[in-house]
Amino acid sequence: MELKDKISVLRGVGPKKAEILQKNGIRTLEDLLCFFPRKYEDRRRETRIDQLQPGQDYLIQAKVLSRKYSGNPYKKNTPLNLLVADDSGTMEVVFFNGRYIANLFSVNKEYSFYGRVTENFGRLQMVHPEFHPLGDPGDIRGILPVYPQINGISANEIRKLQLQLKELYPSVREWLPREIVEQNRLADPAYAIKNVHFPDDGRQVLEGKFRLIFEELLTLETGLLFIKNDRRRDGKGAVIDGRCSDRFIQGLPFELTEGQKSAWEAIKSDLASERAMNRLVQGDVGSGKTAVAELAMFAAAENGFQSVMMAPTELLAKQHLQSLSSDFSPYGIRVGLLCSSMKKSERNQVLTQLQSGEIQVLVGTHAVISPDVQFKNLGLVITDEQHRFGVSQRSLLTQKGENPNVLVMTATPIPRTLAVILYGDLDISQIRTMPAGRQPVRTVQTDESGRRKVYRFVREQMEQGRQAYVVAPLIEESDKIEAKSAERLHRELKELFADFRVALVHGEMKQDEKDAIMKDFAAGSIDLLISTVVIEVGINVPNASVMVIENSERFGLAQLHQLRGRVGRGEALSYCFLICQSDSETAKERNRIMCRSSDGFEIAEADLRLRGPGEIFGTRQHGLPELHLSDLIRHGDVLEKAKEAAKKIIEEDPTLSKEKYQKLKERVKKMFGEEIKLEL
Ligand code: ADP
Ligand code: MG
Repeated sequence: MELKDKISVLRGVGPKKAEILQKNGIRTLEDLLCFFPRKYEDRRRETRIDQLQPGQDYLIQAKVLSRKYSGNPYKKNTPLNLLVADDSGTMEVVFFNGRYIANLFSVNKEYSFYGRVTENFGRLQMVHPEFHPLGDPGDIRGILPVYPQINGISANEIRKLQLQLKELYPSVREWLPREIVEQNRLADPAYAIKNVHFPDDGRQVLEGKFRLIFEELLTLETGLLFIKNDRRRDGKGAVIDGRCSDRFIQGLPFELTEGQKSAWEAIKSDLASERAMNRLVQGDVGSGKTAVAELAMFAAAENGFQSVMMAPTELLAKQHLQSLSSDFSPYGIRVGLLCSSMKKSERNQVLTQLQSGEIQVLVGTHAVISPDVQFKNLGLVITDEQHRFGVSQRSLLTQKGENPNVLVMTATPIPRTLAVILYGDLDISQIRTMPAGRQPVRTVQTDESGRRKVYRFVREQMEQGRQAYVVAPLIEESDKIEAKSAERLHRELKELFADFRVALVHGEMKQDEKDAIMKDFAAGSIDLLISTVVIEVGINVPNASVMVIENSERFGLAQLHQLRGRVGRGEALSYCFLICQSDSETAKERNRIMCRSSDGFEIAEADLRLRGPGEIFGTRQHGLPELHLSDLIRHGDVLEKAKEAAKKIIEEDPTLSKEKYQKLKERVKKMFGEEIKLEL
């Protein structure tokens, strides 16, 4: 057996299991080795039966006194009841798929059982415990690793596969240079791997984990530093006089808020300096970030520079195009659009006009970073909702100009630790004020029983000429299934609201279909829009006053907040209904927070607090590679150490060409994958 072998060499992995594992990113034995437990269960000591308390998990060791079926033994779902005993008492063990399992037990033999103890008519029982014959190899006792759920493979099976890998541990060799190992007191990698999977005590787990988390974070930091280095950010940037925008501000139909004003002041002084701007503007949904971006683009155009604004979806890019065109055309500034669904001839025309400088402001999706997009004189690069982009996408865009000014806008409040990793030297402005007259969205949580009332309310609002969104449940990460449930909801609501114009938009639809529907909704010719989460980002329809979120328990706080931000964008009072179908405490707490607060920063903090210990901070959402073991929030101290080490490495060897860094280089490439076009 070797680390690079395919997963199918293991006992118990046929073609079907191999496929499931592959889908979860586990191709080789090495991948499985790096599939780490989510938590551990302490099953080192068994508990006497007379000490058991209902509602908790226990390990017991007991003899089977009798086996019997409660029903027809020839039917496959007939429950099997075992009466088991130790010196202190007896209890019941129940399996519902009894017929298959009966043969695994013999009367008078001893077994270990591990599971939740419940009470049934005054008798203690365990339903479907894990079990193991006493004395057989491969015990269920000890400190047991609990692996993350993979659909189609039980936790127990994964543990058995991991056991087979034990013979590989010695072949895991030290791959970090000695000075790094010593400075950071890292455990040997083979020791670390063994103890993270199968520890004998808690201290070993910690030592092992520290080493593995350090490895992961060192790889992350080295990759990020490499990308940053590559940006050559120290040259002189375009100097732009922001005072040119005064007349544009005077022409706006509204007064800038305090938050917008101070962000703009900061941007103005960045633009005026020879050092290129590198600024993040954080502001809640609806706080008016686009207006601030417009001021910067206006000034750039007036100073003879081109700007580009990249948005995460085509829908959003087109919406920006519309507002930018109408705001800029009175001043003779030309705005162009680039996205992947455009016809070749249209696209070519835009490319020509960009190169000639005819188009002064370009908006688009990530299509704007493709290599054939060339500017005449790019002075300002803006990314909207930046968390949707990878770090390297951002850096590719800046490479299209001579050290252009960079403005990054996001509605996702980012915890401090993470902001430092993502942006390093970025300056941060926050817009914490809302435009005048904006009222917080009134938020109500309910369950199935409240649905009729909610719909009645939706009807009343529509009768008053307002529009509404219903967000269809997020079922799993499959667009197809989501589309189906949205379609079902659409059929039901079309019937219920037969006298209104009801439409559906979901991710499986073609781009131009989606566009057409969104356009109709924005124009007011659709009253009720049923949607999957495609509307999450940035859609702006001020007349919409109701947001109904189905299965709100399936959304995270940040997402709920984003969704709710689609309403309350005009002056009238808006409403959000969270229909929760779960009794989970966390889900309810999330809904309670939503009802209580409308401050995105407060909600983000609560979100972090509510994350369970096993939940890893979603780095993917922020454009970072996926991490297996590390949590950027909880492992902040390890992160600091890893960052120090990475800094030294990149200073010493900027292209990682030294022999001692070859393994690290491989890992960086693997972690960042396509995202990073490193000439490493
Ligand atoms: P976001 O920060 O979510 O990107 P937008 O820039 O889309 O917010 O702004 C939301 C809405 O508020 C837009 O319709 C915009 O015209 C309007 N708006 C922006 N600034 C102000 C302001 N100072 N006063 C009133 N309305 C504003
Ligand atoms: Mg926006």
